[in-house]
Amino acid sequence: MRLRVGARTDKGQVRSLNEDACVCETPLGLFVVCDGMGGEAAGEVASRMAIETLLSQLNGSDDWPRDPQDSVAAGFRPPTRQLAAAVQLANRAVFDESRRNTERAGMGTTVVAAWLHDNLASLAHVGDSRAYLWRNGQLEQLTLDHSLVEEQVRAGLLTREQSLAGGPRNVLLRALGREATVEVELAEVPLMPGDYLLLCSDGLTGMVADEEITARVARLRHPQEISSSLVSLANQNGGADNITVVVVQVLPDPFWRRLWRFGRR
Ligand code: CA
Repeated sequence: MRLRVGARTDKGQVRSLNEDACVCETPLGLFVVCDGMGGEAAGEVASRMAIETLLSQLNGSDDWPRDPQDSVAAGFRPPTRQLAAAVQLANRAVFDESRRNTERAGMGTTVVAAWLHDNLASLAHVGDSRAYLWRNGQLEQLTLDHSLVEEQVRAGLLTREQSLAGGPRNVLLRALGREATVEVELAEVPLMPGDYLLLCSDGLTGMVADEEITARVARLRHPQEISSSLVSLANQNGGADNITVVVVQVLPDPFWRRLWRFGRR
């Protein structure tokens, strides 16, 4: 799978620190956004620590630690299960550090990770950082926030429109680092040439409507231009939080490869 990638992270207009972190490891096909939380820069530590754990766990080795939640991951393919196990280890690393170091007590982070293999994206997420798929002009949200607002919508206590109208959006029901284990939500999404996978923190989705994201992907096309433009727009709209956007474009196979495949039929 040939990919073109862009990313941008920014502290926004209000916060003094950027506690978001992201990584684009294109040769591995690994893309991650984490949104850290906790006082005195502890959020920065949590998000970096989660990303470093994922990178060290998923750098190409075939053996991976057993996931305590393996039953949840059982129906998924090996890379997805490996990703789930790595997220569990990231959770444990943040949790242990927050207990070791009193200044970091209570720190945590969201995670949304995509690991791309053979035209399939393995997705894992905890918290309210999101993954979207843009295909043929349509934007589909691939993850549901683990937040109070999302729960209220699911329970029918709030309509989707009311949930977008404002109010406290940041009450997270799940995050890495809060407990010794965490429930990781998994998905597998087949990808096609022309698709765009977008990962972001809530500093984007709290400031920029889905319609605007859809329109900018359609208009700009280049992943770096899309990420930069969306971060600028979130800042123009107030930049109330740290903003991170990662955009991965799936390119068509080159001519020789299509020819080679055709010849093998
Ligand atoms: Ca945030």
